[in-house]
Amino acid sequence: MSNSIPTQAQVVIVGGGIIGCSLAYHLTKLGWKDVVVLERKTLTCGTTWHAAGLVAQLRATHNMTLLAKYTAELYRELERETGQATGFRQAGSLTIASTAERFSELKRSASMGRCFDVDVKVLTPEQAGEMWPLINIDDVVGAIHIPRDGMCNPIDTTQALAKGARMGGASIYENTKVTAIHQQGGRVSGVGTDKGDITAEYVVNCAGMWARDVGSMCGVNVPLHAAEHFYIVTEPMEGISNDLPVMRDLNGHAYYKPDAGKLLLGAFEPNAKPWGMDGIPEDFSFDTLPEDWDQFEPVLEKAMHRLPELG
Ligand SMILES: Cc1cc2nc3c(=O)[nH]c(=O)nc-3n(C[C@H](O)[C@H](O)[C@H](O)COP(=O)(O)OP(=O)(O)OC[C@H]3O[C@@H](n4cnc5c(N)ncnc54)[C@H](O)[C@@H]3O)c2cc1C
Repeated sequence: MSNSIPTQAQVVIVGGGIIGCSLAYHLTKLGWKDVVVLERKTLTCGTTWHAAGLVAQLRATHNMTLLAKYTAELYRELERETGQATGFRQAGSLTIASTAERFSELKRSASMGRCFDVDVKVLTPEQAGEMWPLINIDDVVGAIHIPRDGMCNPIDTTQALAKGARMGGASIYENTKVTAIHQQGGRVSGVGTDKGDITAEYVVNCAGMWARDVGSMCGVNVPLHAAEHFYIVTEPMEGISNDLPVMRDLNGHAYYKPDAGKLLLGAFEPNAKPWGMDGIPEDFSFDTLPEDWDQFEPVLEKAMHRLPELG
């Protein structure tokens, strides 16, 4: 990869996580050739590398559902197109409800999904238990099953998008930090970096948890703040195989992803814990955060009820 950056581009994308690489991929699909991605360290080194890799198709709104459905279709084909493995597999997902209100919500989203041809089945607690034999269903009211939901390896998927973008003509520069956003006549005119300036018609902020800092380089307020997110990975467990669907227990604030015989238990934190209040360390790259069992404990407690094997 060349280290000298161009002096001009039609569009500069700030950030080489999955969003920046996906944008570059899609712009080249639309015929844009003069696309430059700038990444301060290494592709995926921010948040992307650490993602659990769940690919869900049902979202809260019509547009988000359309986007998520398209994503699953894209990931299914990306490896064939680029030759870069993505680890994508469609073992499906099971989402359980342990209150009547939650079950109504799931059934509503199932109806919406069907409008977009997302295959969704509503299950009884017993059917959910048959699908995930290790779970305790004594308080489960109902569930939905989406056979074509999937999971992927986020690093490999980002590399595949980056490869597809390069194949379409985009250029990607790592170890290149954007330090300024230039403006002329009230609009963006380029960026300054630690390797020199690039004039550009468009600059897109794909800097993830740094997006607020990048926005502030040109006086734009991006109302975004990083929050910690926790998951644990167990030792190998009897009965956990890659054929199991991803399981979500929304009332239990948790998701369960089979991972080569182990189980990844992740939290949908009921009380978000902000991170980086004093700024994100300059050298942050492929880093993890310190454990916080007090924060994780309420989720773990409910998980031990749902999956007694964890006890
Ligand atoms: C533990 C965990 C599990 C998750 N699980 C899932 C999941 O299962 N499914 C799911 O869909 N999502 C999941 N997520 C969320 C997902 O990881 C993020 O939404 C996604 O990775 C964000 O991608 P991004 O490209 O916006 O940000 P990042 O990956 O953070 O990319 C931003 C990039 O911008 C670069 N950058 C910043 N400032 C500059 C600058 N000035 N100049 C140049 N480059 C700069 C950074 O170095 C970084 O690489 C999870 C997140 C975590 C933490």
